[in-house]
Amino acid sequence: MATAILRSGGRAHVRARIDRSQQLCRETHRRLLENAALRVDFQALIDQVSGLRRRSRHLAPFPIHGGSDDAGLITSALAGGVTLCADCIARRTRVRLGRVTLVTGMMLRVHSGVGVCEACLNGRKVYRLA
Ligand SMILES: [Zn+2]
Repeated sequence: MATAILRSGGRAHVRARIDRSQQLCRETHRRLLENAALRVDFQALIDQVSGLRRRSRHLAPFPIHGGSDDAGLITSALAGGVTLCADCIARRTRVRLGRVTLVTGMMLRVHSGVGVCEACLNGRKVYRLA
């Protein structure tokens, strides 16, 4: 008699654990769907912010530079192995964009290629110190 009670109690315990496991699986699937939706929303937000930042640059032109310290400014912007596009280097250093491409092409030893800029997250030609 006691064995029969234990057996039925054991089955109920196993059944409860199976139900809990299935419930956890459903919750996991629901959260994965929520994460996928959030990822899409965040990517749309990042794209929107990138566009806003790009357009805002037209409102505030870069100050005129061109001094001999541009290479030092650009080198310090790329310090630590960071990969940046020319726009972000120009924004960080306040060196004109044309001067950035000139300096990185002629005065600095940089590795350039198409990749993702670590600042604006856009896929474009990026630079990092070689
Ligand atoms: Zn960038």
